[in-house]
Amino acid sequence: GSGDVHGEVVVLGSGPGGYTAAFRAADLGKKVVLIERYSSLGGVCLNVGCIPSKALLHAAKVVAEAEEMGAHGISFGKPKVDAGELRGWKDSVVKQLTGGLAGLAKQRKVTIVEGFGRFSGKNSIEVEGENGKQTVTFDQCIIAAGSEAVKLPFVPHDDPRVVTSTGALELDPIPKKMLVLGGGIIGFEMATVYEGLGSEVTVVEMMDQILPGADKDIVKPLHKRMEKRLKAIRLKTKVTEVTAQKSGLKVTFEDEKGETSSETFDKMLVAVGRTPNGGRIDAEKAGVKVSDRGFINVDHQQRTNVSHIFAIGDTVGQPMLAHKAVHEGKVAAEVCAGEKRAFDARVIPSVAYTDPEVAWCGVTEEQAKKDGTKYKKGVFPWAASGRSLSNGRNEGITKLLFDPEDDRVIGAAIVGTSAGDLISEVALAIEMGADAVDLGHTIHPHPTLSETVNFAAEMFEGTITDLM
Ligand code: FAD
Repeated sequence: GSGDVHGEVVVLGSGPGGYTAAFRAADLGKKVVLIERYSSLGGVCLNVGCIPSKALLHAAKVVAEAEEMGAHGISFGKPKVDAGELRGWKDSVVKQLTGGLAGLAKQRKVTIVEGFGRFSGKNSIEVEGENGKQTVTFDQCIIAAGSEAVKLPFVPHDDPRVVTSTGALELDPIPKKMLVLGGGIIGFEMATVYEGLGSEVTVVEMMDQILPGADKDIVKPLHKRMEKRLKAIRLKTKVTEVTAQKSGLKVTFEDEKGETSSETFDKMLVAVGRTPNGGRIDAEKAGVKVSDRGFINVDHQQRTNVSHIFAIGDTVGQPMLAHKAVHEGKVAAEVCAGEKRAFDARVIPSVAYTDPEVAWCGVTEEQAKKDGTKYKKGVFPWAASGRSLSNGRNEGITKLLFDPEDDRVIGAAIVGTSAGDLISEVALAIEMGADAVDLGHTIHPHPTLSETVNFAAEMFEGTITDLM
């Protein structure tokens, strides 16, 4: 048709993976087309993920801290929450970032095609937009279609009181009684938000801990604090039935002994994981193999089984995190431009932006035990950190794991204020092959929380005889 477009590199999806790939390819001289179904760029992360959730978590944190200052001689009144105004502020943060992306795309002469794309051949995508269909042809393509929240068959998802994370971020309304199904990162972050804004929140999790995947000792301080603030944290419990009633959502729980109970809630967030969008784009018409679960397999250069088609981000697998998508996007774009590049990260940090934050990277202690990986550890409890005591928040722990052969750092887990920021130092240490002495002898500013990394390394050094 007349509106048909050709790109040397066509990127399908404008999330962190997609926009990074598009911008990098354009910077390397490629003519780039970026296809996005929504009018706003930035994908899940900017629009309905990382960014809006952090804006709301900040609000919840201010509320909790103001309340806790009561014990140190400063009292505020009960907070008045204007959900509309808070939503407006959150939306303005998102808009500033997505608007910035649109500007960056324009600067680089990246052509944006709005609409839902599906492959129609080895070198073409059919895009269905508001004004009809358009064909986009390409020499090379990068699939960055992201993921979607998993819905449960026994939950009435069409009831407006049942939401996934996208709906939960709308704060419409802030309910009196809220159930969060799923104690993973997204579920627990949203539980923190709603608790801070005044809801009575129950979190239910099938596993025996919140934030499954993180070490139990590291999760404990978060559990302990939130157990007091939330209505309940129900572990080893399944939700088996949800019925929409006029008075609320009647939820049936089954605990580990098989005993059932039920309770009624005004709102329910289902946060049980995300499913890749690989199965919705007719990838097979281009010859690209998609797994039954919707994931697209790639090699270390992000190439699919079809050599001129690449895939990145949530669509290619776990961990489904923005920073992983970004790095894969760079690799794919650079390989498209003829560079010899590969995705070769030693560690991808995970962070729960709860209060306290929980962050980990590399080998976890529980995984090491399971795999029989030998390790030694250095642990520093924050009760001995001057800065955390002055913050009135000394519940943190910084734990480092070392290879017993050469004392190199192989993993870290941190719980406490700003743990998500603190983990970066250890990620760098692992990437650089640093050892305990490197971390222990690097001068950290005093008094900071970053010293806890330094101290944890020193705790470990204390077990080495040839030192100081
Ligand atoms: P996405 O961001 O999912 O983007 C895919 C884009 O492709 C979307 O814009 C979609 O509309 C578009 N698209 C898909 N199919 C088509 C099609 N056929 N045609 C046209 N367009 C299409 N990660 C972190 O690292 N840190 C966090 O703090 C964090 N917080 C989160 C909080 C929440 C509530 C959620 C839900 C997620 C969070 N994540 C976080 C995860 C993060 O959002 C994702 O890992 C990240 O967005 C993945 O990027 P992506 O580029 O692979 O895809």
